[in-house]
Amino acid sequence: MQISNKVSSKPYNTFNIDLDIDQLITIDDVSDFEYLDIDLTKILVLGGGSNILLTDKLTKPVLHINTKGVKVVNDQESYVLVEACAGEEWHDFVLWAISNNFGGLENMSLIPGKCGAAPMQNIGAYGVEIKDVLHAVKAFDKTSKKMLTFHNSECDFGYRSSNFKTIWKDKFIITSIVLKLTKEGYHVLNTSYGAISKTLEEKQIINSTIKDVSDVVIAIRQSKLPDPKVIGNSGSFFKNPVVEQSLFDAILKDNPNMPNYLAENGVKIPAGWLIDQCGWKGKVVGQTGTYKNQALVIVNHGEATGEEIFNLSKDIQRSVKDKFNIELEAEVNIW
Ligand code: FAD
Ligand code: NAP
Repeated sequence: MQISNKVSSKPYNTFNIDLDIDQLITIDDVSDFEYLDIDLTKILVLGGGSNILLTDKLTKPVLHINTKGVKVVNDQESYVLVEACAGEEWHDFVLWAISNNFGGLENMSLIPGKCGAAPMQNIGAYGVEIKDVLHAVKAFDKTSKKMLTFHNSECDFGYRSSNFKTIWKDKFIITSIVLKLTKEGYHVLNTSYGAISKTLEEKQIINSTIKDVSDVVIAIRQSKLPDPKVIGNSGSFFKNPVVEQSLFDAILKDNPNMPNYLAENGVKIPAGWLIDQCGWKGKVVGQTGTYKNQALVIVNHGEATGEEIFNLSKDIQRSVKDKFNIELEAEVNIW
């Protein structure tokens, strides 16, 4: 465990916001919790900082989870249960699974952040979400100071949501995740989403493997999304809204080419498209703006403050509300 005072937040968030962290506590081992002499209910838990926007200096202690380790905990004919510590980089873990020919994570290649944060918003990409492979989440209860295990059905996973982000917000420190991954002969490839199948065809890959799918997802993402190491961002700033059929029909009347997808409780409209229609795509506002290839991603062009980025997000929300009568909900956690 390491405790540092007055640390710059810049290396700890992918928006590259530079603010003071009064106290940063880095945890390398779960047993460190025993020696922590602070009120855990008052701390902020930080993973890779790729889904947060810092708008004010951090006066609460920040617990940076850096625990490492991946192991197979159950090996069956068709699947393995694999446990990954919260501080493992998600993408490194995906690559580890693929190199061991364990399937289920390939569509979620190149998502930034740590394994511990993955269940928080039920990370997902290209038609696969962590809930599809998650067996259990192990977590430390900040109040009772006990380790607990939550099985998939207890977490109430939804679109970019889980109990950890809603009714259990700030109650637990996730220490590891246990995933159920397929073995050779039992993989189920999901290539119908977005540009995956088209790109596989272009590359003339016929009997694709989980590695092929991962490679293609990585290539598509690298061509479309800004690399936070080059240009600060936190991925999609807003969730894609799901609207009632009547509102969808009304918008479609004036916008017959609007992309849309049937969802559980209505119709999903890509938020990036809505923002683009309001004229925001690629727009630069001071040191912030939206990404030129994907309007859903708000970027830091260099020295933007969290407040500037937050204000831009509010302006975008207002435009979309005025033009389409749709309230965009932030996906990024505002600190
Ligand atoms: P952080 O940003 O550090 O934390 C996020 C939230 O989780 C905070 O509220 C924090 O308190 C909490 N938290 C973190 N770790 C723990 C823990 N161990 N215990 C308890 N609470 C914790 N997301 C997707 O779903 N799909 C994508 O395809 C995707 N693409 C992205 C692309 C880019 C370029 C970027 C920058 C982001 C993208 N994201 C995507 C968002 C982000 O990568 C994920 O949400 C990721 O899981 C966040 O992990 P993190 O470790 O950085 O979490
Ligand atoms: P895209 O492929 O251009 O598609 C635009 C939107 O349409 C996506 O948001 C996606 O919704 C939806 N969509 C596309 N095909 C769909 C289908 N067959 N069925 C249902 N919905 C469909 O999106 P992109 O921006 O390049 O992102 C690709 C994938 O990576 C998406 O799944 C996206 O969620 C994920 N991603 C997430 C983040 C983040 O920070 N959360 C950042 C970058 C990329 P969904 O978003 O619901 O999938």
